[in-house]
Amino acid sequence: MLLELTDRVVVITGAGRGIGRTIAEAFLRERSRVVALDVSTEALTWFEDAREQAGLSGGAYACDVSDTASVTSVITEVVTEHGRIDVLINNAGVMGEGLVSEIDDATWDRCFDVNVGGVFRMCRAVAPVMKSQRSGRIINAASFAAIVPSIGSAAYAASKAAVVQLTRTLAGELGPWNITANAYAPGMIPSGINTFAEMDPQAQGRLLDTLTLRRWGEAEEVADLICFLASDASRYITGTLVDVSGGKLATQLPQRGY
Ligand code: ADP
Repeated sequence: MLLELTDRVVVITGAGRGIGRTIAEAFLRERSRVVALDVSTEALTWFEDAREQAGLSGGAYACDVSDTASVTSVITEVVTEHGRIDVLINNAGVMGEGLVSEIDDATWDRCFDVNVGGVFRMCRAVAPVMKSQRSGRIINAASFAAIVPSIGSAAYAASKAAVVQLTRTLAGELGPWNITANAYAPGMIPSGINTFAEMDPQAQGRLLDTLTLRRWGEAEEVADLICFLASDASRYITGTLVDVSGGKLATQLPQRGY
């Protein structure tokens, strides 16, 4: 299958590190016009080096998705510079650790402001651009935790569940303009904010037993799905949550010691 993503203008939030960086690298390989956004511009130095080396257009911009002014001005700049936005990938996110009985207001608010509010602000800014093109792809980071939450991460799980409903609503609102909106649910990927691979071996074993494929995921495996969702090959898929968790949601722990 040819993805044919060459020259597509692809905006990625939180592209500085972790899964976002791997997604940006995948679109550079596809020779897209990648627009990499992150709250930290230093985190995007790698991107500008890689993009220039590959001789591709695109660019790196500082953008805090929790700040409406920042989002609005960056999207205006991107449209002035590149003329269109074909794909928006809302990857930026933060964790929100803590039991419900213990979590403080600031942690809860930050988690929602970035994880849900960020998706909302970016879509509000980009939707008119995609509507005027009568085409577009919106791809939002959810998590398996949107379906089965982990104890001790209520803020994160609730924020990701909200992303799923926001995505479905966007799909309904933007469908008439040939714009699709889908969410993806990565599983346990030992990069960036997740540190599963640093846990003691027994704890790791218990977690790995909850994954149908019995191994951690790789950011590249998420990036492959996102390239598919960004391409014409996914044109009749909208309003879905695509599970890319190695079966985290598919099976339970074995009952009889298999
Ligand atoms: P993951 O493992 O899910 O990739 P990371 O924490 O490694 O998670 O990456 C998240 C990215 O999102 C980081 O590059 C971080 O700087 C970025 N990010 C976090 N908050 C914001 C924000 N408010 N606006 C834009 N980018 C953000």
